[in-house]
Amino acid sequence: MEIHHGRHHAAYVNNLNNALAGAPELAQKSIEEILRDLGSVPEAMRTAVRHNGGGHANHTLYWQSMSPSGRRTPSGELARAIDTRFGSFGNFQDQFTQAALSVFGSGWAWLILEAPGQLRIVTTPNQDTPLMNGHQPVFGIDVWEHAYYLKYQNRRADYVAAFHKVLNWDYISERYEQLLKK
Ligand code: MN
Repeated sequence: MEIHHGRHHAAYVNNLNNALAGAPELAQKSIEEILRDLGSVPEAMRTAVRHNGGGHANHTLYWQSMSPSGRRTPSGELARAIDTRFGSFGNFQDQFTQAALSVFGSGWAWLILEAPGQLRIVTTPNQDTPLMNGHQPVFGIDVWEHAYYLKYQNRRADYVAAFHKVLNWDYISERYEQLLKK
């Protein structure tokens, strides 16, 4: 985790800052605003912003979505929305796990809000983010090998199972309610 945060995530931040150094008008926007409208990023830096800006936004949400303590199940509006969409929290966990295991190569699996009140599980390749498709990520799991190889080697399924056990449902449930107001 320390290497993941202190080196991998840090590299995305440093590379993003380097890419944006020549574009002060972009540096004033939030990273979410930039990623929602990549087409307005000058072409010369667009790929660097997509890779490293996506990396920064994705990892920021990833760290916030985990906690050593706190609620281990969703609450409030999100609990109801998950039951409505997936039948039960257990079914949601199974489908999220299957999505995380289905990513070929490097990428992410997400719970997204694709429209008001509409939850869906999706995957993205590389550091692409649901923001680029006009969707709101509720939370996501990093399934790049760098996220699990040091501890779990090739056993991605063990890493995904461990991730479910440390999800910060206080934060995620609160985030969902904030997203509904946007
Ligand atoms: Mn990562």
